[in-house]
Amino acid sequence: MRVVADTGICQGHRLCQGDAPDVFGFDEENDVVVVLDERPDESRRADVATAVKYCPAFALSIDED
Ligand code: SF4
Repeated sequence: MRVVADTGICQGHRLCQGDAPDVFGFDEENDVVVVLDERPDESRRADVATAVKYCPAFALSIDED
């Protein structure tokens, strides 16, 4: 899987960081999410999927490759 964040629509809620802090970081200057690990281990899928599901801005997705 590849984690994709659309920083153009991210609203800076940071909920994603709570779900998977090893995958999602935050750019304080621009107030947007930063993907720290674009290709996390499969073992992280559940937490990443939770972040994708609950992002209020629908800014996150998982690409299957
Ligand atoms: S990606 Fe979603 S949950 Fe994460 S900071 Fe942006 S708006 Fe908030």
